[in-house]
Amino acid sequence: MTNLYPWQTSQWSQFQQRRQNGQLPHALLLHGPEGIGKEGFARLAARALLCEQPNTEGLACGQCKSCRLIEAENHPDFIVIQPEEASKAIKIDQIRDLIQRMALSPHFSGNRIVLITPAEKMNLAASNGLLKTLEEPQDNTVIFLVTSQNSRLSATIRSRCQMLRFALPDSAVALRWLKDSLENHSQAEQLLMTANGAPLLACQMAGDETIRFRQQVLKDLMAISAGNKQAMAVANEWLKQAHDKTLQWVYHWVCDMIRIKCGDERFVINQDIAAQLQSFAQTIDLNRLYQFLDQLSHAIRLRQTSVNELLLLEGLLLNWTYLKTSKKQERA
Ligand SMILES: [Zn+2]
Repeated sequence: MTNLYPWQTSQWSQFQQRRQNGQLPHALLLHGPEGIGKEGFARLAARALLCEQPNTEGLACGQCKSCRLIEAENHPDFIVIQPEEASKAIKIDQIRDLIQRMALSPHFSGNRIVLITPAEKMNLAASNGLLKTLEEPQDNTVIFLVTSQNSRLSATIRSRCQMLRFALPDSAVALRWLKDSLENHSQAEQLLMTANGAPLLACQMAGDETIRFRQQVLKDLMAISAGNKQAMAVANEWLKQAHDKTLQWVYHWVCDMIRIKCGDERFVINQDIAAQLQSFAQTIDLNRLYQFLDQLSHAIRLRQTSVNELLLLEGLLLNWTYLKTSKKQERA
């Protein structure tokens, strides 16, 4: 990526302003939802800080020696720390190695940039190791930390960083970008909703099974509610799919049903399934929906721990079964 995403211009001007005023911090924490290009932004900022002749907007020139080295992923003053294997932790050895490299002067005369992504993957030892570096900052070194799970970073790490927040883009802006990026844009709208509004995530989902599975999740919920499927069986099927967005979808649907029940239909996000959500919402009590939303957000937090996922899903789906208990059943 060599250009800013259209929804990142305000963050870029904040970054540029801090840079021009000589107020760039030693550590900048980029946080916000997954799939909106925070890491891309950090890489653009790194290129810009290392570039010999940035343009008037402060973006890298793409031509100089530094830019060419970054392009070849071979710049000695750009250090990227990420999990060595996908879904694993960032370990203390990686941070020790970073500290050793930072003890030497930069290879070129300018800045040195460190990118830690996703920062919440640092295990406790790694996080403690980094803390010392953050407490004793070096001149001309900027550390970018990127996270979509800000609350999982320790409070002490966060307190040593300046924050740069990224929100979900406006849906019209996201949709325009998505349509331009996809070869077949007929599914763009549905993809964007499947990705809960995150355009890069939507792009990744294009061509895979995610859209179909999202429809299946909705069907399963309706079937459980109608007594045509067992919560346990559905929990097993969902677990086999191992899709990490499942609970987020349900969360957003419940939010939409609450909007519908409160008469705020125009704010419903999942427009493609609005009719289904509407007819379903009519059969459920508002308080129960709120309770279920609490259970969902609790479950989403627990999923990031080593909880037994099957039990977690079963518990949630059982609660879903009881959500629509009719007056007659309640009396029985
Ligand atoms: Zn350059």
